Amino acid sequence: MHPIRTRAGLGAIASCLALTAAAATAPSVPADISARLREIHARSISFQTVEGQGQVPAYAAYLAGVLTEGGFQPADITITPFGETAFMVARYRGKDPDAKPIVIGGHMDVVSAFKADWQRDPFTAVVEDGFVFGRGSSDNKFGVSTMVAALLWLKAEGYKPRRDIVLALSGDEETIQATTAVMAEQLKNAELLLNSDAGGATLGDDGKPIVYGMQAAEKTYVDFDIGFTNPGGHSSRPSPDNAIYHLARAIDHIAAFSFPRQSSELTRAYFRAAGPITPGETGAAMRRYAEDPTDAGAIAVLSSQPEHVGQLGTTCVATMLQGGHARNALPQSAKVNVNCRVFPGVTIESVKETLVQVVDDPRALVTTLGKPVPSDASPLRDDVMKALRRAIDLRAPGLPIVPSMSAGATDSLYFRNLGVPSYGVSGIFMHPKDQFAHGLNERVPIASFDGALIQWRSLLKDLSR
Ligand SMILES: [Zn+2]
Repeated sequence: MHPIRTRAGLGAIASCLALTAAAATAPSVPADISARLREIHARSISFQTVEGQGQVPAYAAYLAGVLTEGGFQPADITITPFGETAFMVARYRGKDPDAKPIVIGGHMDVVSAFKADWQRDPFTAVVEDGFVFGRGSSDNKFGVSTMVAALLWLKAEGYKPRRDIVLALSGDEETIQATTAVMAEQLKNAELLLNSDAGGATLGDDGKPIVYGMQAAEKTYVDFDIGFTNPGGHSSRPSPDNAIYHLARAIDHIAAFSFPRQSSELTRAYFRAAGPITPGETGAAMRRYAEDPTDAGAIAVLSSQPEHVGQLGTTCVATMLQGGHARNALPQSAKVNVNCRVFPGVTIESVKETLVQVVDDPRALVTTLGKPVPSDASPLRDDVMKALRRAIDLRAPGLPIVPSMSAGATDSLYFRNLGVPSYGVSGIFMHPKDQFAHGLNERVPIASFDGALIQWRSLLKDLSR
């Protein structure tokens, strides 16, 4: 059962986006906490928490040790083994045991990295040119380390929250998210989730932040297999009843089809915030769309742009093709994979029905692949938007905050699926040219470390009160 969603979002966004004239002064990070964070981050990179290496439990044990040393009760930390990986839940006790906890989350596993391909050892934290290099340096060991260090800071200050703050770290986010599913089920009574694995600020060429993106929704990822079968036969005896011809016509129909345009509180807030900071025709179209999401001219401009079309509704696209079995035989089968990114609130079953209608051929067999997990958009809650506004103002006063819907998929979708509002609020401030998550020579700017601590401390104090 999903909790009642608040509808306070739009007004909240408007006021939160306004420039803040008198931002509070940022606290300075104590030198020992700052140093401890760098140490935790470097140690984190040294654990090769790649799928199949069995290193996640050791990494979790290390983090548990850091937390107990910082004042957590050992009984409040659980590491649950899960095949070769594990997930970890650590509870910072609040004063009111009846208040719903807030969860802060991330993942301990990383995408694989081959040493031979990298300029530096991917599993050694190397400091160079203002960055820390290493696999996971940004995704997501920066998030994990900054959350852990922020909790140490709060403990050192003697901070006593009203709500429990629960640190929840998954162990297979980059692969099958099975630990996430179990962990989310255990924590489904939470008030909300703050996820360190999405969101963050974009820096301009001058190194100054331009915009902060907060992820509040993910589209659902789903693949459909659309296939035709046929008795086949010798290719010297052709007939129009040919699986490849049928498939070709089906693909033509899909190519010509667009799902109905949809808007939500979140996508309108996104375009409202992005419009004024986006130049030219695109920015103008964003502003018009935010006011009137049925504006055909604005829709035409935005839907012609691959980077924006996904915000306007469900999209489906042919991605893989397979057919026939011999050069001299009539095809016995032909199929296409259609990859869809489903708008929050739309059911997988209705997308499948639409595809069946679009293909419009009773011989076609349309199959849903895997077990897609749908997730609703999280409401743009007033308390969350205000807390984020305050936290960001401590780092970059007045920086525009743009709520966003990503194409999926992070751990948040499992929490949203269970009715826990979830927000991607990473502390990374980075230029797009430096983003190498999942890629070679992954790095994170040193300048983000202390700022991220300030941001987490402010968010946690505001939302756990
Ligand atoms: Zn990640």
